[in-house]
Amino acid sequence: MIALLRDRLITDEKILKAMATVERHLFVPEPFTNRSYEDSALPIGKGQTISQPYTVAFMTQALGVRTGDKILEIGTGSGYQSSVLSVLGARVFSIERDHELLAGARKMFDRLGYRVATKGGDGTVGWNEFAPYNGIIVTAGAPDVPQPLTRQLADGGKLVIPVGSLQYQSLVVITRRGEEMERREIEGFKFVPLIGKMGW
Ligand code: SAM
Repeated sequence: MIALLRDRLITDEKILKAMATVERHLFVPEPFTNRSYEDSALPIGKGQTISQPYTVAFMTQALGVRTGDKILEIGTGSGYQSSVLSVLGARVFSIERDHELLAGARKMFDRLGYRVATKGGDGTVGWNEFAPYNGIIVTAGAPDVPQPLTRQLADGGKLVIPVGSLQYQSLVVITRRGEEMERREIEGFKFVPLIGKMGW
């Protein structure tokens, strides 16, 4: 899997090392476990997926995580992305709307010893209590950028979020500079929908 990521120009050695450390097969249920190290999204139940390794690496690279950064993830899913962020030395906060998936992810964090603060509910409004965040990563596709999330960014912080239609999204990277929001977009992503007050 790491060789596949290198072939696709993921160059950040810390991210490659973190993704080599977190055993993806522990997050992929049967009957898909034997495909865990392919570069593809796979079903995790409840109509949801664990993101493709390339997407996890690309979004993590876009976040520019440094040790000690406070990172909010919307869409805990299997817990794989949170685990990668945790191994990178981030303080991770993660919100998931599906309580069964959240329970599974929490079990895995406990088993592997990753310290991830989690909450069940609608992540489109963020998690104000622990704001501001150095980074916010949304792992489901939104119709637009939820304003509560940009408000919860620290100065210099980045929000990485897929935005577009239900079929197709661009990855939007917003960097907060004081009250200004710098925005860039990378085309060509496909996520499950972000469902909630500021989502679909
Ligand atoms: N990051 C996950 C992982 O590593 O397995 C993959 C997440 S999956 C692609 C997207 C997740 O977002 C789903 O588990 C879905 O239930 C969740 N989701 C969708 N809308 C949400 C919302 N408003 N708040 C929190 N979670 C949401």
